[in-house]
Amino acid sequence: MPYICPKCERELISEHQSHYCAKVSLDDLFKGKSDELLLLFDKLLAEVADWPDVLVGTTPNCITFVHRQTFFVIRPMQKQLDLKFYSVKPIEIPQVKTIATGQVSKQHQAKQHQ
Ligand SMILES: [Zn+2]
Repeated sequence: MPYICPKCERELISEHQSHYCAKVSLDDLFKGKSDELLLLFDKLLAEVADWPDVLVGTTPNCITFVHRQTFFVIRPMQKQLDLKFYSVKPIEIPQVKTIATGQVSKQHQAKQHQ
């Protein structure tokens, strides 16, 4: 059972997980953005939220997906969704730009613009 913060009602891995402690609604994140963006986000959300033990959180800038640690971040931009997918191995898809993160040598960060 995930821990639920009494202040922001966010699902957390444990009581001590740091998080943005305020309620942010998805409507606010997509305010002024195109319907297509929201539609695309809904598809991603429906797909990833079904994965086992994934917690979905919202901050003022992005939507985070956590399984033990954050592995996927969706940031709604003006005309696109900025997707960051954290993976142990580089993702070998031409459309995905892989960036090795400095701190953890095994972790790679993929950034996709569409
Ligand atoms: Zn909280």
